[in-house]
Amino acid sequence: MARSCIVCTHPERVAVDAALVAGETQAAVASTYSLPPSSVSRHFRGHLDTALVGFSGNEAGEGLSLIDRLVRSLGDLEAVRRQALTSGNSGHVIRAAAASNALIQTLLDRLGVDDLSVATDLRTAHFLALSVGAATRVNPETGRLIAARLRDHGLHDDAAALDAVAAKAEQQQFENRQNGIEK
Ligand SMILES: [Zn+2]
Repeated sequence: MARSCIVCTHPERVAVDAALVAGETQAAVASTYSLPPSSVSRHFRGHLDTALVGFSGNEAGEGLSLIDRLVRSLGDLEAVRRQALTSGNSGHVIRAAAASNALIQTLLDRLGVDDLSVATDLRTAHFLALSVGAATRVNPETGRLIAARLRDHGLHDDAAALDAVAAKAEQQQFENRQNGIEK
């Protein structure tokens, strides 16, 4: 990740990356963020977060509408976020959540959704998910309880991800106790 890249250091880098991941043309992105097209091109080829774009390219979005690509990217980002949550990579969780937020905003704009409550609900759900993850790391039992509820509602993937976070936290607490005894 070259420090000299003006896209990497751009304050709206997450939004730029999200737009590129969503399949917006480099020219359009350059124009939207007032960036030189050559910089966007170099950034796209060399610096895009591979975890966020690992999925793009295998199935080229040819023939898909922008909205289809946005929805697909959102699903992929969600998968990245869950994986990052499970592996405890908080940097990736935050990046993926921020990119999801940017995508959701773009999607809502494209769909002409100006109902703020829909946008707020989606955003709230995201931050709620992040908060639950954080709470679980502090108190695994809370996570286990929420995971059981999620399972009751058929949200097995989310429940499994949360259980994994809880298991990791329990292990950590166990190790901390062991260390405390030995000292
Ligand atoms: Zn860059």
